[in-house]
Amino acid sequence: MTSSNESTVDIAHVYRGTFVHSTDHTAVEILEDRLLGVDTEGKIAFIGSGQEVYSLSQKWRFEALAVTQLGQYEFFMPGMVDTHIHASQYSYAGTALDLPLLQWLNTYTFPVEACYKDLGFARNVYTHVVKRTLRNGTTTACYFATIHTDASLLLGQIANDFGQRALVGKVCMDTNNFVPHYRETPEESHDETNRFISELLEKKYPLVRPVVTPRFAPSCSAALLGHLGEIAQNNHLHIQSHISETKEEVKLVKELFPDYDSYTDVYHKHNLLTDKVSPTHTHTVQGHSVDNEDHNIAAYNDSGGNGSKYADVDDDYNDSGGNGSKYADVDDDYNDSGGNGSKYADVDYNDSGGQGSKYADDDYNDSGGQGSKYADVDDDYNDSGGQGSKYADVDDDYNDSGGNGSKYADVDDDYNDSGGNGCKYADVDYNDSGGNGCKYADVDYNDSGGNGSKYADVDYNDSGGNGCKYADVDDKGDGSQTVMAHGCHLTDEELKLFREKGASIAHCPNSNISLCSGMLDARRVLNHKVKLGLGTDVAGGYSPSMLDAVRRTLDTSKVLTIQDPQYQTLTFEEVFRLATLGGSQALSLDEHTGNFKVGKDFDALRVNTAIEGGPIDLINHGEGPKVLLEKFLNLGDDRNIAEVYVAGKRVVPFVERP
Ligand SMILES: [Zn+2]
Repeated sequence: MTSSNESTVDIAHVYRGTFVHSTDHTAVEILEDRLLGVDTEGKIAFIGSGQEVYSLSQKWRFEALAVTQLGQYEFFMPGMVDTHIHASQYSYAGTALDLPLLQWLNTYTFPVEACYKDLGFARNVYTHVVKRTLRNGTTTACYFATIHTDASLLLGQIANDFGQRALVGKVCMDTNNFVPHYRETPEESHDETNRFISELLEKKYPLVRPVVTPRFAPSCSAALLGHLGEIAQNNHLHIQSHISETKEEVKLVKELFPDYDSYTDVYHKHNLLTDKVSPTHTHTVQGHSVDNEDHNIAAYNDSGGNGSKYADVDDDYNDSGGNGSKYADVDDDYNDSGGNGSKYADVDYNDSGGQGSKYADDDYNDSGGQGSKYADVDDDYNDSGGQGSKYADVDDDYNDSGGNGSKYADVDDDYNDSGGNGCKYADVDYNDSGGNGCKYADVDYNDSGGNGSKYADVDYNDSGGNGCKYADVDDKGDGSQTVMAHGCHLTDEELKLFREKGASIAHCPNSNISLCSGMLDARRVLNHKVKLGLGTDVAGGYSPSMLDAVRRTLDTSKVLTIQDPQYQTLTFEEVFRLATLGGSQALSLDEHTGNFKVGKDFDALRVNTAIEGGPIDLINHGEGPKVLLEKFLNLGDDRNIAEVYVAGKRVVPFVERP
């Protein structure tokens, strides 16, 4: 028995010292002498005061002596997010910066990218780029690979092996007149994109996801763009591409796509400019409070969210009413479950009465509801033990659900059984739903995370439960987010469209200056309330380090100030936020990373500004953390990054492999 103020979460590591991060309201928030606990799942379990070490160690059950203490000149900051980097171009980073974009692509890029047919070559470059970016503090990277599916899958594998959080894109391009051996037919591009997505998802890498990647409009036919928009929408995937990098390119797009209002409109009309929720998405009911009484959701196979006021009422088949839903499915059709606490749970055949439902089903083959007044107690076949039932079904037979609150829910690993609510060990096999309040809800395919479950499912096609601490956010929280690189020459109308669609921009200042492409007015983008992150754009940008992206962003903003003294220069604090929280928001991964918030993954850099032999000389000892941060951003390099953590796991220094 655990007392009420003792947590059941297992703590893996506790760190004490200074933590520096951004919030929505504060560009740089400094947390001095804090204790931060990371649980065994790699998530931040608590953040407390260093003074409270004793009481926290009681509550969270860790040894006070096992706390890792940071030094005086050290701090933790969130891992940096590179929102745009071409892994395939890393082989020639630091060279070939003497041509403008379109000539640069034909002369340097396409001939090199064609080499990735050779998997040995790909492995070598991709291993180097993943290691180099991790060492420089990039905990999340949004990668372009090449048109080659197998090499792109290899990049995903390498990122996974080294523990980097990554979006990986197989490049799509069916137009290339200058280097014709480096392009696909529209059919190849379409089919190989589907193969790439399904094979990468099958690997079930916890931190690596596919991203739909049309190279840019001039490399793609309208038909291909349309297919890719469809693929992204149907699979709820991220989308990345380039836009308005140079004026010459903007002119070319106008010639190639004369019937569109703008460059942005080309992507928009092909459903490639989206945010978390695409217009035809079927899961919009979940987690959204809809005030319109007449709101009608007509989607198939969807689960109403817990606490959702308007759970699925479309009267289609196979839908579950949400927990606490006022209007759970009442269509009296087959095979639907009434929601927990639902007032009007379904009362027809073969359905489960909801938890706390007033009118739970009591006919045949049904499950008694949790706290239901009339739970099924007939001891017949194929029924689930009721919630709070003393003797939940533990017979290890087929097709039974473990009871709610049962200590030993069905753990027989057979098929099609649901773990019970409040169960400590919910089932982890196929096609089953993790129960409400379950500590370890199921994490495989097609299952629903339970209500109040701490670790609800995070994979595809599943519904996150209401009140879930880590509810599934991929179908709407992570999916269909567009990030477009550059945007230097976007008009106000185009930025408005970005804002409206929720699409984001990856600002790549090193590349913009190195290829003389233009200068993004980042302040204008922020004023338009368009999501903005930073990117290295290797190898148009010559540095793979996000610290360089921070400095070039500040430089560009200062050049704009030189041109117009009234210009509101970006501060280093703001740019720090763009490199961390801003990037995670631009990629719609801010549920998981970007800053230090309880429930997020611990993606962090342990920065030591006083490292022996490092690039920073601390002349005035006793500098505060903000000064140390500014010095690190302007003067630091990978020598100052003592450790890198992704999802709680230390990934730098590298572990030597046999
Ligand atoms: Zn690029």
